[in-house]
Amino acid sequence: MSATARPVPDPSQGRRGYLLIDDVTIAYGKSVAVDSLTLEIAEGELLSLLGPSGCGKSTTLRMIAGFVPPVSGHVMLNGRDITRKPAHKRNIGVVFQSYALFPHLSALENVGYGLRMRNISRAERQERAKAALETVGLGAFAGRLPGNLSGGQQQRVALARALVIEPEVLLLDEPLSNLDANLRAEMRDEIRALQQRLGITTLFVTHDQQEALAMSDRIAVMKDGLVSELGTPQQLCDAPRSAFTAGFLGARTVIGGQVEAGIFRAKGTQCAGAPEGATQMVLRASRLRPAAEASGPLALSGTVSTVSYLGEAFEIDLAAASGPVRMVIPSDLAPPAPGQSIAVQALPGAVTFI
Ligand code: ADP
Repeated sequence: MSATARPVPDPSQGRRGYLLIDDVTIAYGKSVAVDSLTLEIAEGELLSLLGPSGCGKSTTLRMIAGFVPPVSGHVMLNGRDITRKPAHKRNIGVVFQSYALFPHLSALENVGYGLRMRNISRAERQERAKAALETVGLGAFAGRLPGNLSGGQQQRVALARALVIEPEVLLLDEPLSNLDANLRAEMRDEIRALQQRLGITTLFVTHDQQEALAMSDRIAVMKDGLVSELGTPQQLCDAPRSAFTAGFLGARTVIGGQVEAGIFRAKGTQCAGAPEGATQMVLRASRLRPAAEASGPLALSGTVSTVSYLGEAFEIDLAAASGPVRMVIPSDLAPPAPGQSIAVQALPGAVTFI
């Protein structure tokens, strides 16, 4: 496939606004699903839309693909206004959660189908579809019907079908949800590697924070039809600006309180070094450790309610006066026992204030 020969843009250098969603509102009847959304995606970037079910991720993706018209606002792709362009005239590849393969067509015919719609000759269709299947590691499966392929292989066929048209943008709508846990992690890495190799600008929709953290250049955290926070995975993890982001990005404890003379105080707990005006303290689970007694800036203790073994780590839930606290410790450390009273020690980077 000639897409492989494209110069690969570096997303940090890429043109901002290669895909620009400008003040877009989308409604189903009278109900607004996406509310004045503005988002820029750089050339070659993989940007994830991450958020709970119903927050408007798929609607945004379907609008970019041309399946749902916006009520207002514009979509610009590579400097062109595509807001009113029909879906089949947009040069955009889409992969859905359900793969949406034709069951009676072989892998090769499924991949070539999109080219048929574009009046490309049979010989060229065959050649390009074959190359696309090879790109996703399925060269040997060209003749198989979807029913005779595994879930992961069907997923790859869907990906090849999206890529064969050499799209300017790739849209992935929860493409890993139907795979079991092991395959999901494998496909996640494969899709990211392929995206980087091809340098293709990609919008990835997911409700799974691990997926978003592992794959993205940047993540837009969505809530109620709005982008509530935008940043690199590291920015969002290290310094979330809202309790929603902190809560959504994994095992976080958010404690409400107030600051007096640099000390954050909440029921039964306090922490030194807080900025004036902070109203919430966020604790990162993987940076907390059980201790016999409090030491350092954080004074927090409680009773262990549950200890779960996760293979690589123990997940420990604690009942504290300020509310539940979660910590995740490496499994080579000895965990406390349920019912035990312990203090919480904060490692560097454990505490953020909002
Ligand atoms: P997400 O992808 O984040 O789960 P969606 O974009 O699917 O969210 O949905 C956003 C909102 O729009 C939800 O309130 C949902 O119920 C509503 N919605 C989605 N699709 C339709 C539809 N075809 N008709 C009516 N309402 C819809």
